[in-house]
Amino acid sequence: MTHDVVIIGAGPAGSTLATLLARQGRQVALVDAARFPRQKVCGEYLSAAAWSILERLQLDVPRTLGAPLAEMIVRSPSGREASVRYSDEPALCPAALGRDVFDARLLAAARRAGVTVLEGFRARGVLRTGGIINGVEIIDVADSEGRRELHAPLVVAADGRRSTVLQATGSVHRSGTATAGFKRHVPVADRTSWAGRIAMHGAAGGYVGICPAGDGYLNLCGTIPRTYLQQAHGRMGDALRLFLGPDSPLLPPADSDDPREAWHAMPEVVQQRSRHREPGILFVGDAMGTIEPLTGQGMTMALAGAEMIAELLRATGARTADAALQRRYEAQWFRTFRRPIAAAAWFGRILRSPRLLDAVLLTTGVVPRLSQTVLLRAHDRTLTMPIAG
Ligand SMILES: Cc1cc2nc3c(=O)[nH]c(=O)nc-3n(C[C@H](O)[C@H](O)[C@H](O)COP(=O)(O)OP(=O)(O)OC[C@H]3O[C@@H](n4cnc5c(N)ncnc54)[C@H](O)[C@@H]3O)c2cc1C
Repeated sequence: MTHDVVIIGAGPAGSTLATLLARQGRQVALVDAARFPRQKVCGEYLSAAAWSILERLQLDVPRTLGAPLAEMIVRSPSGREASVRYSDEPALCPAALGRDVFDARLLAAARRAGVTVLEGFRARGVLRTGGIINGVEIIDVADSEGRRELHAPLVVAADGRRSTVLQATGSVHRSGTATAGFKRHVPVADRTSWAGRIAMHGAAGGYVGICPAGDGYLNLCGTIPRTYLQQAHGRMGDALRLFLGPDSPLLPPADSDDPREAWHAMPEVVQQRSRHREPGILFVGDAMGTIEPLTGQGMTMALAGAEMIAELLRATGARTADAALQRRYEAQWFRTFRRPIAAAAWFGRILRSPRLLDAVLLTTGVVPRLSQTVLLRAHDRTLTMPIAG
């Protein structure tokens, strides 16, 4: 099958890019190993910048779908805490939305734009002719005999932080200590006490974020040192108990058979940044570069990165990605996201160090305005970033 563009991965980056390129009149194929709706390890926090991109690009994910957030509580293990208000202006506040709903809505928008969607197909590798990437080999997840080739002058890797396409065609720079990520939706009896609030609990080497997930559930999400997951033989609930201690009030209720309350784990979460090494391909979203997860900016960057590529291809009229186009895109990407990534790394360092966190939270009593601005800027720096386009 021949297309203008083949995109691997239908997360926020892949689906958004597919829609924007289809609107430019390009024949786009979008492939994902999963079938949607699907869950994903994520805090499900969508920043104000993300909502404004969604609105501007008319991706049919209205803000009313999300649980609005007005306030972030930051708490240290010693019990010190600070409250940070996002904005008095509702349009400048973040809102939480489950990844099952969010990603499925973006994929539906891609379908409506005319994108050929292949769910349940895993990309196994890229195809090359004369050393130039010009397609992808995909395998039916339910039938290993079900092999297909998709040909296109442009391939986009939007297959997330563990991108196999990127590993085969680019180079990745990793930094910081790898942690294990988790998420679980838990039912909440008292919905009103959580309305409008996200709580970020710092801990030694990790964090736990709690956020409304809609329909009477809270989303419990965070990262912990990987050793706990190893000690617990891969059982995330046990690993979190080891990490927080058996009496921690943050521990969720006992494991449940309800699929909505299942644990989702990501065994390796590390900061990374990619570079293109071969023509014919572009990386987008987490495959291009990640941001400290606890700031909840990954999806904003995925959407903005997709818009950046669509705009670059529209402006240049390019049908493929040569080295010059890749360099231009990389430069724009690093320029746009360098500061948010650096600010987020600081926020991560503070939240994962109880002593540092206590020191910062002490200042909230002394210079409340300054310390709240610092916390807010570190947490949600992309709120003010220049968006591409
Ligand atoms: C613990 C944690 C908490 C986070 N919390 C937040 C948050 O609150 N807010 C926020 O904005 N961001 C958060 N993030 C980051 C966010 O999840 C990512 O930045 C975002 O999902 C990136 O989108 P993407 O489209 O690039 O990739 P993904 O969403 O990872 O999508 C990639 C897609 O590619 C598919 N795929 C993978 N390999 C293949 C293959 N070989 N063939 C076919 N398909 C494939 C996958 O099935 C998946 O659907 C968090 C991350 C972590 C680890």
